[in-house]
Amino acid sequence: MKITILGSGTCGSQLPGVTNRFPPAFLVEWDGEKLLFDCSEGVRFRLEKAGYYYADLHHVAISHCHPDHNALVHYVQSVCCWNGWAGPPNPEINIYTTNQIVDEFPTIWKFFTPDDPDRSRHNWPKLKFHAMPDANPSIKIGSGTLTAVKVYHGFGKTDAISFRLETPDGVFAYSGDTGECSGIREICRDADVFICEASARIGDLKNPVNYGHLHPKIVGEIAKEANVKKVIFFHYTGLDSDEAMIADCRSSGYDGELICGKDFEVHELSANLV
Ligand SMILES: [Zn+2]
Ligand SMILES: [Zn+2]
Repeated sequence: MKITILGSGTCGSQLPGVTNRFPPAFLVEWDGEKLLFDCSEGVRFRLEKAGYYYADLHHVAISHCHPDHNALVHYVQSVCCWNGWAGPPNPEINIYTTNQIVDEFPTIWKFFTPDDPDRSRHNWPKLKFHAMPDANPSIKIGSGTLTAVKVYHGFGKTDAISFRLETPDGVFAYSGDTGECSGIREICRDADVFICEASARIGDLKNPVNYGHLHPKIVGEIAKEANVKKVIFFHYTGLDSDEAMIADCRSSGYDGELICGKDFEVHELSANLV
């Protein structure tokens, strides 16, 4: 399994003293498959920079509707242009996401594209939506199995999910945005790699049960309890230093591998290392 960090950042940039990082996106590859986790603004430029044809994706998992994770309309428009101007065309994209996005995407699409609300003209890729987890508790993608669980986020008013991908190379878990809930503790059980958000600042103990973001120490508590081998933080502001975040997380007693993810890092996971 190869994990490419395309965005370890947040919805904000130009913070004082902080190196800019792109909003969330992760490309996971195994056994000839590619799955993009979150489809944030400008993800095509980052795919290109990482050495990929941006339009060559057939599987996209989107954790929730917030714009720093979900710029699907923009991505689909760019694939349409690729299909018409370059090719080979991408005929179909599978999208694994929340009920809310599945239900409301047609309205959003019509807002952006009133000239072709049904995508009947042009070179649009066919979009196949898979609502998770109610309609699809798990889905096979090649040799992998993708599962999802509902998590608490946006005061509980935002339909948000975390993902787990089990492959012959090992288990990958992705938090999306979440606060404290049973779902996040369940989805990362025995994971080899857990990409976990840490949007809340060190000491912001209310956030996990209020708006719904995790701070470093609670991520450590979750990872320790779930027997996670490696945690990669993402979605942190950078206002706390990496060293302070690691120390705060370690104060939970978590002693597995732990890093603050950076854009364009590549992490490998293979069966003989598991
Ligand atoms: Zn969010
Ligand atoms: Zn977010």
